[in-house]
Amino acid sequence: MRHNFGAGPCILPQEVFKQASSAVLDFKDGLSILEISHRSPEFEEVIAETVKLVKELLNVPQGYSVLLLQGGASLQFAMVPMNLLPQGQTAAYLETGVWANKAIKEVKNFGSANVVASAKEANFTFIPKDYEIPADSAYFHFTSNNTIYGTEMFTLPVTKVPVVCDMSSDIMSREIEVSNYDLIYAGAQKNIGPAGLTLVIVKDEILGKTGRSIPSMLDYKVHIDGGSMYNTPPVFSIYVAMLNLRWLKSKGGVAEIEKENKAKAHALYTEIDRNTLFKGTCAVEDRSRMNVCFVMENPELEKPFAKFADDNGFEGLNGHRSVGGFRASIYNALPITSVHALIDLMQTFEEKYK
Ligand SMILES: *Cc1c(COP(=O)(O)O)cnc(C)c1O
Repeated sequence: MRHNFGAGPCILPQEVFKQASSAVLDFKDGLSILEISHRSPEFEEVIAETVKLVKELLNVPQGYSVLLLQGGASLQFAMVPMNLLPQGQTAAYLETGVWANKAIKEVKNFGSANVVASAKEANFTFIPKDYEIPADSAYFHFTSNNTIYGTEMFTLPVTKVPVVCDMSSDIMSREIEVSNYDLIYAGAQKNIGPAGLTLVIVKDEILGKTGRSIPSMLDYKVHIDGGSMYNTPPVFSIYVAMLNLRWLKSKGGVAEIEKENKAKAHALYTEIDRNTLFKGTCAVEDRSRMNVCFVMENPELEKPFAKFADDNGFEGLNGHRSVGGFRASIYNALPITSVHALIDLMQTFEEKYK
């Protein structure tokens, strides 16, 4: 039995893998999902159900469009300022890690980024809290969960400017109030489905105000008008995302998975704090419920623990190459039994080495 704690692409429910593989062989009347036209009525149903599930699961209000795009969250780093930032104006950014940095880097192509607060000095181990967002900012951008450092932002700052959020690694993991945001984006490969798909939820009224000419493929309005089918969409990724969102709905939706996610994170952090060999790396109040980062009190034990984990069927526990240590990604699809197995592993290791 393998336990997959990988950070992304990552575990999806076993039943989703089974349903997806059977659709590769026979989706409809002996045709594979990989060979059908994206304009076929069958696929139009898939895309419509996927959008409907996103709206249902996140309670998306009227006035927002749900888009299924490509290019990953990384393309959104550029599409956001291209579509929302008038030339020469400034957008406010919160610098909480590598992904926020990459988003900030793209802004200069269109205007300027004002970094309102940064956790860089502390190697991104906390979420900055007291900062001002200037009222003339075109928008405020932040990353809700810092996949690499294991911090998560549970409260939104109060601001009147439009709010844009990179929610790639915690979307669908806890309830959010979509009306507090003007644009949400997420690469699919953590909690939504396979790589190759990017979800965007955008408030329609914020678009079309930059005065800039935007290439069609990079223009949210073009994708809204085209129903996310301006060009050939990633058919298989969308299909698997639909299966995964159906699975989430059948489990009771986001509110239910949030309870499970809290239980998983609580169990693991409790063990990290109790176990004499391990310690967490982030400020306790900012600890992520999706990516649990930890190191060893004695760094010399890191290699032996990594080997012990590997020998026992644990996958993907290495920290990001820029941080080191360990990272257990405990996304929606990771069963609590895998968390308990990891806790057992840490306790067994403690018995051997303390
Ligand atoms: C994984 C991740 C990204 C990068 O997504 P791509 O789809 O690879 O572009 C960006 N932001 C966050 C928060 C992530 O977790």
